[in-house]
Amino acid sequence: KMPSIFTRIVNGEIPAAKVYEDAQTLAFLDVSPASRGHTLVICKEELPTLLDLSPDLLAAVARTVQLVARAISAALSPDGLNIVQNNGAAAGQVVPHYHVHIIPRWEGDRAIAHWRPGAGAPDELRDLAAAISARMGEEDAV
Ligand code: 5GP
Repeated sequence: KMPSIFTRIVNGEIPAAKVYEDAQTLAFLDVSPASRGHTLVICKEELPTLLDLSPDLLAAVARTVQLVARAISAALSPDGLNIVQNNGAAAGQVVPHYHVHIIPRWEGDRAIAHWRPGAGAPDELRDLAAAISARMGEEDAV
Protein backbone atom coordinates (compact mmCIF):
# COMPACT_ATOMS: atom_id res chain seq x y z
CA LYS A 1 0.00 0.00 0.00
CA MET A 2 1.23 3.49 -0.85
CA PRO A 3 1.97 5.65 2.21
CA SER A 4 -0.47 8.55 2.66
CA ILE A 5 0.66 12.10 2.02
CA PHE A 6 0.58 12.60 5.81
CA THR A 7 2.81 9.57 6.43
CA ARG A 8 5.26 11.13 3.99
CA ILE A 9 5.17 14.31 6.08
CA VAL A 10 5.74 12.26 9.28
CA ASN A 11 8.74 10.62 7.59
CA GLY A 12 10.16 13.95 6.43
CA GLU A 13 9.82 13.01 2.76
CA ILE A 14 7.76 16.09 1.97
CA PRO A 15 7.91 19.42 3.81
CA ALA A 16 5.26 20.82 6.12
CA ALA A 17 4.99 23.88 8.38
CA LYS A 18 5.16 21.97 11.67
CA VAL A 19 3.62 23.39 14.83
CA TYR A 20 3.98 20.58 17.38
CA GLU A 21 5.15 16.99 17.57
CA ASP A 22 5.19 14.25 20.18
CA ALA A 23 5.64 10.48 20.09
CA GLN A 24 2.17 9.72 18.72
CA THR A 25 0.93 12.94 17.09
CA LEU A 26 1.98 15.73 14.75
CA ALA A 27 0.45 19.15 14.04
CA PHE A 28 1.17 21.22 10.94
CA LEU A 29 -0.47 23.99 8.93
CA ASP A 30 -2.97 23.01 6.23
CA VAL A 31 -1.43 23.79 2.83
CA SER A 32 -4.80 25.14 1.56
CA PRO A 33 -6.06 26.94 4.67
CA ALA A 34 -9.77 27.77 5.12
CA SER A 35 -8.62 30.58 7.42
CA ARG A 36 -5.39 32.03 8.79
CA GLY A 37 -3.83 29.43 11.10
CA HIS A 38 -5.84 26.41 9.84
CA THR A 39 -3.94 23.50 11.38
CA LEU A 40 -4.15 19.72 11.07
CA VAL A 41 -3.48 17.34 13.95
CA ILE A 42 -2.76 13.76 12.91
CA CYS A 43 -1.84 10.51 14.58
CA LYS A 44 1.53 9.43 13.19
CA GLU A 45 0.27 5.92 12.73
CA GLU A 46 -1.57 5.67 9.41
CA LEU A 47 -5.14 4.77 10.38
CA PRO A 48 -8.02 5.88 8.12
CA THR A 49 -10.77 7.17 10.41
CA LEU A 50 -11.94 7.82 13.95
CA LEU A 51 -13.32 4.28 14.07
CA ASP A 52 -9.82 2.80 13.72
CA LEU A 53 -8.04 4.50 16.65
CA SER A 54 -7.50 2.94 20.07
CA PRO A 55 -8.92 4.97 22.97
CA ASP A 56 -5.37 5.85 24.07
CA LEU A 57 -4.36 7.12 20.64
CA LEU A 58 -7.60 9.09 20.34
CA ALA A 59 -6.88 10.66 23.73
CA ALA A 60 -3.36 11.58 22.57
CA VAL A 61 -4.78 13.33 19.50
CA ALA A 62 -7.40 15.15 21.61
CA ARG A 63 -4.67 16.37 23.98
CA THR A 64 -2.63 17.71 21.05
CA VAL A 65 -5.72 19.38 19.55
CA GLN A 66 -6.28 21.26 22.81
CA LEU A 67 -2.60 22.23 23.20
CA VAL A 68 -2.46 23.55 19.63
CA ALA A 69 -5.86 25.29 19.92
CA ARG A 70 -4.59 27.15 22.99
CA ALA A 71 -1.40 28.19 21.17
CA ILE A 72 -3.39 29.35 18.13
CA SER A 73 -5.67 31.35 20.43
CA ALA A 74 -2.64 32.97 22.08
CA ALA A 75 -0.83 33.67 18.81
CA LEU A 76 -3.70 34.80 16.57
CA SER A 77 -6.51 35.85 18.92
CA PRO A 78 -9.35 34.42 16.81
CA ASP A 79 -12.95 35.07 17.86
CA GLY A 80 -13.65 31.32 17.80
CA LEU A 81 -12.32 27.94 16.65
CA ASN A 82 -13.97 25.10 14.74
CA ILE A 83 -12.75 21.57 15.35
CA VAL A 84 -13.76 19.56 12.26
CA GLN A 85 -13.02 15.93 11.50
CA ASN A 86 -14.17 14.13 8.34
CA ASN A 87 -14.57 10.34 8.19
CA GLY A 88 -15.10 8.76 4.79
CA ALA A 89 -15.32 10.24 1.31
CA ALA A 90 -19.07 10.82 1.70
CA ALA A 91 -18.26 13.03 4.69
CA GLY A 92 -15.69 15.01 2.71
CA GLN A 93 -12.56 13.13 3.79
CA VAL A 94 -9.93 13.44 1.06
CA VAL A 95 -6.83 12.13 2.85
CA PRO A 96 -7.54 8.67 4.33
CA HIS A 97 -5.23 9.18 7.32
CA TYR A 98 -7.00 10.29 10.51
CA HIS A 99 -6.72 14.02 11.11
CA VAL A 100 -8.48 16.80 12.99
CA HIS A 101 -8.88 20.29 11.51
CA ILE A 102 -8.43 23.29 13.81
CA ILE A 103 -9.94 26.25 11.98
CA PRO A 104 -9.57 29.67 13.65
CA ARG A 105 -12.62 31.88 13.04
CA TRP A 106 -13.19 35.62 12.98
CA GLU A 107 -16.62 37.26 13.14
CA GLY A 108 -18.20 37.31 9.68
CA ASP A 109 -15.40 35.40 7.92
CA ARG A 110 -17.72 32.70 6.43
CA ALA A 111 -14.66 30.38 6.38
CA ILE A 112 -16.77 27.22 6.57
CA ALA A 113 -20.46 26.53 5.97
CA HIS A 114 -22.80 25.30 8.67
CA TRP A 115 -24.95 22.22 7.97
CA ARG A 116 -28.59 22.68 6.91
CA PRO A 117 -30.86 22.14 9.93
CA GLY A 118 -33.38 19.38 9.21
CA ALA A 119 -36.54 18.10 10.89
CA GLY A 120 -36.63 15.18 13.34
CA ALA A 121 -39.97 13.82 14.51
CA PRO A 122 -39.83 13.01 18.24
CA ASP A 123 -40.71 9.29 17.84
CA GLU A 124 -38.21 8.95 14.98
CA LEU A 125 -35.51 10.43 17.22
CA ARG A 126 -36.49 8.08 20.03
CA ASP A 127 -36.28 5.01 17.71
CA LEU A 128 -32.94 6.11 16.30
CA ALA A 129 -31.50 6.69 19.75
CA ALA A 130 -32.67 3.20 20.78
CA ALA A 131 -31.11 1.59 17.67
CA ILE A 132 -27.77 3.30 18.29
CA SER A 133 -27.86 2.79 22.02
CA ALA A 134 -28.41 -0.97 21.51
CA ARG A 135 -25.05 -1.17 19.71
CA MET A 136 -23.01 0.69 22.34
CA GLY A 137 -20.04 -1.13 23.76
CA GLU A 138 -19.57 -3.49 20.83
CA GLU A 139 -15.81 -3.41 20.27
CA ASP A 140 -15.94 -4.14 16.55
CA ALA A 141 -19.21 -2.44 15.63
CA VAL A 142 -18.54 -0.52 12.43
P1 5GP B 1 -9.92 16.15 4.58
O1 5GP B 1 -10.84 16.67 3.51
O2 5GP B 1 -9.35 14.80 4.22
O3 5GP B 1 -10.54 16.20 5.94
O4 5GP B 1 -8.76 17.20 4.66
C1 5GP B 1 -7.52 17.04 4.05
C2 5GP B 1 -6.77 18.34 4.24
O5 5GP B 1 -5.40 18.10 4.01
C3 5GP B 1 -7.21 19.45 3.28
O6 5GP B 1 -7.64 20.59 4.02
C4 5GP B 1 -5.94 19.74 2.47
O7 5GP B 1 -5.76 21.11 2.19
C5 5GP B 1 -4.83 19.21 3.37
N1 5GP B 1 -3.67 18.70 2.64
C6 5GP B 1 -3.68 17.84 1.60
N2 5GP B 1 -2.42 17.58 1.20
C7 5GP B 1 -1.61 18.28 2.02
C8 5GP B 1 -0.18 18.41 2.09
O8 5GP B 1 0.58 17.83 1.31
N3 5GP B 1 0.31 19.22 3.06
C9 5GP B 1 -0.51 19.89 3.93
N4 5GP B 1 0.09 20.66 4.87
N5 5GP B 1 -1.85 19.78 3.89
C10 5GP B 1 -2.39 18.99 2.94
